[in-house]
Amino acid sequence: MDYKAEKDPGARCLQCGTELYGRPDKKFCSDPCKNKWHNSRGGEKRRSQGRVFTDLAVNYDILEKLLLKGVSSVDRSVLENMGFRCARITGHRRIRGGHDEYQCFDIHYIQTETRLFRIRRVSAPLLETPSRQP
Ligand SMILES: [Zn+2]
Repeated sequence: MDYKAEKDPGARCLQCGTELYGRPDKKFCSDPCKNKWHNSRGGEKRRSQGRVFTDLAVNYDILEKLLLKGVSSVDRSVLENMGFRCARITGHRRIRGGHDEYQCFDIHYIQTETRLFRIRRVSAPLLETPSRQP
């Protein structure tokens, strides 16, 4: 079968828009176009994930530095000036007293409108464990 002889007048390369000849299921005019298209789609996802990971890494660095200095309570405005992004967390739970405890990996803290406090490193997972004894 001679694919070159077939022509689908509606088909165009998804990357560059060049009119396509050959197999009716063809989506790209060339391998470079195919690669470019797939890379750009994957790249968008990776960039978005990268931003989240970068923010979390920055937050973690800041929290770790505070812990090393023995600081467990700090104004949110101070943190935000350091590049801390309050919206980036890896976990959250409402604790007794109505406070919100947040996680940045193994560092936990309570966050209010104005402050972060009780910043601490927790090795065990943050799970509500039932208090009943075996
Ligand atoms: Zn193309």
